[in-house]
Amino acid sequence: MRIYLPTDIKLPIAQIIPCTEAEGPGRRFALWFQGCPLRCPGCCNPEMLPFTGGTEMPLSNVLAQMDAAVQEHNIEGITLLGGEPLAHAAGAAALARAVQERGLTVMVFSGYTLEEARQSPEPAVAELFAHTDILVDGPYLREQPETRRRWIGSANQRIHFFSDRYRADDPRWLLPNTLEICLHGSELRVNGFPAPSAVGLWQRPLAKRP
Ligand code: SF4
Repeated sequence: MRIYLPTDIKLPIAQIIPCTEAEGPGRRFALWFQGCPLRCPGCCNPEMLPFTGGTEMPLSNVLAQMDAAVQEHNIEGITLLGGEPLAHAAGAAALARAVQERGLTVMVFSGYTLEEARQSPEPAVAELFAHTDILVDGPYLREQPETRRRWIGSANQRIHFFSDRYRADDPRWLLPNTLEICLHGSELRVNGFPAPSAVGLWQRPLAKRP
């Protein structure tokens, strides 16, 4: 069954980074949704949990930013994180479909397991998965830190390949994690995988210059 999603849908966005190599294979356009109903202890994005805040952005605007990132950075795909992408499934599905129609790839991080997600009454979840290449599923468990697989937060989380664009034996999964720090005006943007002792350090506001 094909689901038709409105093309003018708005996405609640906490953060966009147009080009990163710290959120999945290759250079990727990363988008963090604002709002997650889960509460994993030790979540490193607590400011993205409330369903208020963030920026409501039309899909067309997001796609324009992504198209610019393709031109400027030659990105190979997008990564959707959160917040919880499945809690915004209609917008995420419309975005993922448009991304794959451009020949790019889609990676999704969800705090739900695949089995839980497949029981969702929200039909857009299936539509999102139909346009996803890689799904990383399951809640973040801080007592089970992942030590081997790059980009993965905890050992319980599984990697599902929904297309043949990526493979489990890709050596990039075993390279060390990276942390990216960028200064945008007075805002410090950090993404990637920090050492546990560094979590939260960047959330302190920068001191104002006199
Ligand atoms: S699912 Fe992700 S964003 Fe939501 S609480 Fe867990 S770690 Fe945080």
